[in-house]
Amino acid sequence: MPQLEPDTAIYARQSRTSRTSYSSCDAQVRICWHLASELSYKVRDVYSDEGESSESLDRPQLTRLLAAIDAGEVRRLIVYSIDRLTRRLFHLQELLERFNRNDVELLVVTDPRFGGAAASRLMTNIVAAASEFEIEMTRERLSDARAALKRQGKRVAGRVPFGYRADSVSKTLTRHPEQSPIAEQLFELASQGIKPSELADHANSSQWRNHQNETGRWTPRWITKLLTNRVYIGEISNGVSFLPSQHPPIVSSTVFDAVQQQLANRIARGSSGWKRELIKPSNDELELLGILYCGQCDRPMSTSVSIRGHIRYRYYRCRSHAGGRPPCRGVNIAAFEADRLVKTVLSELEEPESNHSGFTMFWRGLTDQQRKETLGELIERISLSYSTKELTIQFKVELDSIITQRSPPEPIEKQGR
Ligand SMILES: [Zn+2]
Repeated sequence: MPQLEPDTAIYARQSRTSRTSYSSCDAQVRICWHLASELSYKVRDVYSDEGESSESLDRPQLTRLLAAIDAGEVRRLIVYSIDRLTRRLFHLQELLERFNRNDVELLVVTDPRFGGAAASRLMTNIVAAASEFEIEMTRERLSDARAALKRQGKRVAGRVPFGYRADSVSKTLTRHPEQSPIAEQLFELASQGIKPSELADHANSSQWRNHQNETGRWTPRWITKLLTNRVYIGEISNGVSFLPSQHPPIVSSTVFDAVQQQLANRIARGSSGWKRELIKPSNDELELLGILYCGQCDRPMSTSVSIRGHIRYRYYRCRSHAGGRPPCRGVNIAAFEADRLVKTVLSELEEPESNHSGFTMFWRGLTDQQRKETLGELIERISLSYSTKELTIQFKVELDSIITQRSPPEPIEKQGR
């Protein structure tokens, strides 16, 4: 069996050893590794610079990585965030040029805009990105200046995080009686896999007041920011890393880590860059367009494509405006996931209703190609409900006659080996 060459590198950097886990190289590497496996890339090597500053490119592991890149051993580089490579624009430019020269694709977990695009496209986009980056740099430098103060675990000026109040006497944060339970609940729900968009809907319909004391103004973006802020586990940022602080945590590290994992999964699946386009399902994926319905509003789901790097992901989404109602927010599923889900359910139907007896045997006996071809004849509709987490399959009334008409497929010899 032909194996893909391991041509993907992971780079991680941590400015200095910290007791916190999430900013550590290990955590960065774990998330990068996750993305690589999600995209079926084979990792050839991991380069971790511990305790190295972003100010210089003269770091042992980065040097080793660049040598491998120049030697043409690396086709793809994954980093957790662009500032792991550098915080300086001209250094970034230098690195990107070098990647470009060697035809190395860069994937940034936290910023899909950088991620994956052809190196040439990156270079044309870099000018556009530059202004934003410069602002970020200035902000970072300001943070660095304030870092010394924060090292003592005390709060300095700045916005009070949602869920907290600033105590003017002790100069630390205390729990906000109304907001902290909301923050706690957001984390709890997110740790169970509820998406930021769904959380925003929930917060809005629950009439929760946001950081500006307003109802109905929660956004997925803002919630994502909240969910990734380590202030809620009692740490404080000095602009580079997070340190234990004196203020009380709102969530446990266990819940916080679970949330980060859920968010990382979502990032890896690619939640941005929607493009209105219709593409065919890949390989032996089932075509569910036309039979897949949104369980929330009962309208057909349509397809869309998300591009991450050179990979195009096909999605099914609730995008219907039928009946004058807007589409359901956050109802989307990657085509490969829907395919897997439907196939699993169909193959595992244990005791189907009496009139469907024989279906499981029939289905199991079909090849992938045959499944693809007959699906539309067998199934009326599949309805996917996010709220109840249910997949409902409605068979065609003609199902029984189709099964009997067709001679039972030949048993596949390979089975049960
Ligand atoms: Zn819907």
